[in-house]
Amino acid sequence: MKHSKVIDLLNSTKTLHEVTAKGWVRTFRNNQFIALNDGSTIHNIQCVVDFENTPDETLKRITTGAAICVTGTLAESRGAGQKVEIQVTKLEILGDSDAEKFPMQPKKHSLEFLRENAHLRVRTNAFGAIMRVRSTLAFAVHQYFQEKGFFYVNTPIITGSDAEGAGEMFQVTSLPLDGSAPRNEDGSINYKEDFFGKQTNLTVSGQLEGETFAMALGQIYTFGPTFRAENSNTSRHLAEFWMIEPEVAFNDLADNMDLAEDFIKYVIKYTVDKCGDDLKFLENRLLEEEKSKPQAERSEMTLLEKLSFVLDNNFKRVSYTEAIDILKDSTPNKKKKFQYIINEWGADLQSEHERFLVEKHFKCPVILFDYPAKIKAFYMRLNDNTEPGKETVRAMDILFPGIGEIVGGSQREERYDVLVEKMKALGIDEEELWWYLDTRRFGSAVHSGFGLGFERLVLFVTGMSNIRDVIPFPRTPQNAEF
Ligand code: ATP
Ligand code: MN
Repeated sequence: MKHSKVIDLLNSTKTLHEVTAKGWVRTFRNNQFIALNDGSTIHNIQCVVDFENTPDETLKRITTGAAICVTGTLAESRGAGQKVEIQVTKLEILGDSDAEKFPMQPKKHSLEFLRENAHLRVRTNAFGAIMRVRSTLAFAVHQYFQEKGFFYVNTPIITGSDAEGAGEMFQVTSLPLDGSAPRNEDGSINYKEDFFGKQTNLTVSGQLEGETFAMALGQIYTFGPTFRAENSNTSRHLAEFWMIEPEVAFNDLADNMDLAEDFIKYVIKYTVDKCGDDLKFLENRLLEEEKSKPQAERSEMTLLEKLSFVLDNNFKRVSYTEAIDILKDSTPNKKKKFQYIINEWGADLQSEHERFLVEKHFKCPVILFDYPAKIKAFYMRLNDNTEPGKETVRAMDILFPGIGEIVGGSQREERYDVLVEKMKALGIDEEELWWYLDTRRFGSAVHSGFGLGFERLVLFVTGMSNIRDVIPFPRTPQNAEF
């Protein structure tokens, strides 16, 4: 008999028929009640075992973590907490689990312990919920863009350019590392002999390739892995993360902000509608976690309130210059509570400043725009009419409460001459980016795009606080287990 998913059994309106379910035992109580979970939902189905007619040998093997198959009658439950249960007539142990050794005991584990057991943590309620929410968000990303007529582009993971400028790169090579790699006369490595005949890296962003596609297909998006060898051991940085990068021909910066805001709201709304039970569970998890914090550090809103708040309010759009004025006048700046004091226009904003603006000052998502050219990437559109020495670019970052930067984007410099001049000033090799410059040589036009770190979005939606807990197998400095 084909087995049913637990989620379908729990939602079933028909009872008193025979069903089969397969899953993993969460708990087994009183030699009688199995809480069975198959991953289809946060909820377990209760399976009632007729222990008098079940051999002791079998009962002993119903342990936490064991895989089992049960067949029985789906019936209304007499117990509290569930509408239906399976009154088991046949039980088969598919895979034993030694109760002494199975790491996921039915008790509270620390997040650190769970990270060390990332291959099993997905069998817990919290990680099951997080990973289902992640999957739903990913689907919503595609649905949003596909409905809007964007085309999905797979940009290369191995890249021949190191000028993307977004971060430190991981080198890709098939040359030996034992010192025997071929060398040039000056002693440097001869990359002509390497696999691709040149030096290559893992991509830090698909943007530059994405731009070439936007200049042909009009509206495109990427959604793929990106890699940054930044040695930043923070709760918001991974060495391998997934990025969503839309790029749109003929969009200016204001269109870009509208797109980003609309997109974020859509995927959150979609997930709130689809993942109610998982989010409710994560909301309670967060409430529990916050009980251990001092009152002042607890969030004023529950998880679902925070998500509704984002859906119901406009993101606050603030220029960099306004933001600097606010920060200069702020209490933590005057009292020297910031690690980096803001003295003047041109300062790069640190995460402490971003979080002050979002969490203390505006108390809502913020879009900062028109940044000093000096602190932003070479491809961003130089603003017209800016004072010499105070040049700004049409950049925008979206800042979220508890997260900081979730989106970084810009209108791109479409003018060939301006772009080349900027590259020269920054020492970026024109020859290497010949293909990128071609977009400005042939049919150039205003265009814009942004990058959204998928894990930062998952962090926000799940209410988790460490990015290592929202990706199946995190890669961070000194850690590539699994
Ligand atoms: P940050 O200042 O937080 O390091 P960034 O300015 O380097 O971010 P961008 O290069 O603009 O970020 O990348 C676009 C988006 O990708 C960011 O807004 C963020 O959501 C995400 N992101 C960047 N670096 C990481 C990382 N190491 N791990 C996870 N997400 C990241
Ligand atoms: Mn970074």
